Amino acid sequence: VTSLSASTPQDRGLIAAFEAIVGPANVLTQPSDMAAYLTEPRDLFRGGALCVVRPGSTAEVAAVVRLCSEAATPIVPQGGNTGLVGGQIPAPEDRAIVLSLQRMRALREIDLASNTMTVEAGMVLAAAQAEADRVGRAFPLSLASEGSCTIGGNLATNAGGTGVIAYGSARDLVLGVEAVLADGRIYAGLSKLKKDNTGYDLKALFIGSEGTLGIITAAVLKLFPKPRAVATAFIGLPSPADALALLDLARDKAGGEITAFELIPRLGLDFVLAHAQGARDPLAGPHQWYILLELGAHEEGAADRLLELLADAAGRGLIEDAALAASETQRRDFWRLRDELSEAQRREGGSIKHDVSVPIADIPAFLEEAGRIVATAAPGARLVPFGHLGDGNIHYNVSQPVGADRDAFLARWAEINFLVHGVVARYGGSISAEHGIGQLKRDLLGEVKDPVALDLMRALKRTLDPKGILNPGKVI
Ligand code: FAD
Ligand code: ZN
Repeated sequence: VTSLSASTPQDRGLIAAFEAIVGPANVLTQPSDMAAYLTEPRDLFRGGALCVVRPGSTAEVAAVVRLCSEAATPIVPQGGNTGLVGGQIPAPEDRAIVLSLQRMRALREIDLASNTMTVEAGMVLAAAQAEADRVGRAFPLSLASEGSCTIGGNLATNAGGTGVIAYGSARDLVLGVEAVLADGRIYAGLSKLKKDNTGYDLKALFIGSEGTLGIITAAVLKLFPKPRAVATAFIGLPSPADALALLDLARDKAGGEITAFELIPRLGLDFVLAHAQGARDPLAGPHQWYILLELGAHEEGAADRLLELLADAAGRGLIEDAALAASETQRRDFWRLRDELSEAQRREGGSIKHDVSVPIADIPAFLEEAGRIVATAAPGARLVPFGHLGDGNIHYNVSQPVGADRDAFLARWAEINFLVHGVVARYGGSISAEHGIGQLKRDLLGEVKDPVALDLMRALKRTLDPKGILNPGKVI
C-alpha cells in the first residue's frame, strides 16, 4: 500500500473541500485507514490514493465528482472491494481518490405490484436478497462474495454467479439505474418500466462498464417469485460430454426449473476434502467429474422430478452415481463443496486463473484441447477447471505442480493465459465471462477484441468522460 501524502496546497485544498461535503470522518487519509481499500482479494494489485471519500447520498457523490472534474482528479469507484480483476484499485501514480459507495446502503422502496425493489448502490448483495425474502419474493443474483459485494459493484461488473442459468446476469435483473456522470450531473434513470422504447438503452451503458462511464448510485431491481421447493443433487459422472447430455435431458424434463448446473472435477473435490474442515464426499466411490444440479420449483414435487430425471439419466448411462440432499443442512454441505473450490486451490499453492466462456456445446472439446495444451506446456501442473457449465462459463484454473516453486509457476501466468485463450478464440469464446476486464485483462482486451468494437468503446468513453477521470487505466 502506497500512501501518497497530500503534499501540494492543491491536494490539501481538495481534501478540505471533500471534508466540507461528506464530513471529516468520511475522508480517510491515513495509510492504516486506507489499507482495506487499496488491496484486493487475490492480492495481485496494491493501490495508492490521495484519500478515500465516503459520500452518504447521491447529491454528495455529485458534489465530489464536480470537484474532481474541475481539478482533473481521477476517481476510482468502489463497492465491496471483492472484484477479481483490480478494477476497484487505484494505480498510485494516478493520484486518484477512491470513492466508496459503502455508506449508501438504503432500501429506497419496494413496489410489490411492479415487482421491483429500489436500492442504493452500496447495499450489500446479501442484504438485497434478504429484503426481497422479507416480502416473500426473491432477488436471485448469487455469488460466493454476496456477504460483502454491493449492488453497485454487481451492476458495474455485470456479475454472474450460480443463478445465471435460470435468471441471467446482473444486467438481466435491472430495470433502472441512477448514475452520476463525469461532470457531476445526475442521470435519473430509476425507471420501473418493463417496456420503454424511447431511444437508446442508456442504463445499459453503466452496466458492465466497471466504473469507467459513470458512478452508479442506485438501481431498480427486478423481484422474482420465491421458489417454494428446492431440490439439490450431487452427481458423479465420467465426462463433460455426459454432463452436457445430462443438461440436455434436464432441460427437457425440468426446463425453467434448473437453477444451478455446476461442474466440479475430481481433483477440485480432492482439494476441498483436504482443506475444508468437515467437508465430506457425498458419494461412495470416486468419479472423474461431478455436477451440482439444483431445481427451484414454484410447486411441491421438485425432489420427485429430480429423482425421475436422475433415474432416466442413469438408465441412459450418463451418470454413475448421485446423492439427493435430504435436508437444508445437506444442501448447504453440497454447495460448500462448490463454494470452497477457490479457497482450497489457494491452499494448494499458486494457481493461474482464467474466467472464460465458449458456446455450451463446445465445452467438452474446449476442456479436452486446453487440457492437452496446458499439460504439454507445464508438465505436472494440476488442472482444476470448474464452474458454470450451464452457461458455458468455466473457471479454467491451473494449480502449480506439487512441490514446485510458487513464484516461478506464477511467472508463467501470461504464457499459460495465452495458450488457454488461444483455444477460447478458436471456439469464438470470451476471455472474461463474468469477472470483467479491470486492470488484469486490459492489455489482453486490446489484443482479442474486434477493432470496430474497440473503436465504439473508445468513442463512448470519450463522450461520457472527456477528461478521462473515471477509473483511468481500466477496461480500455
Ligand atoms: P468492487 O470490487 O468494489 O468493484 C468492482 C468494479 O466495479 C470496479 O471496477 C469498480 O470501480 C466498479 N464499481 C464498484 N461500485 C461501483 C459503482 N457504484 N458505480 C460504478 N462502478 C462501480 N463475480 C462473478 O461475476 N461471479 C461470481 O461467481 C463471483 N464469485 C466471487 C467469489 C469470491 C470469493 C470473490 C472474492 C469474488 C467473486 N466475484 C464473482 C467477483 C466480485 O465479487 C464481483 O465482481 C462483484 O460484482 C463485485 O462487487 P463489489 O461491490 O465488491 O465491487
Ligand atoms: Zn464464477
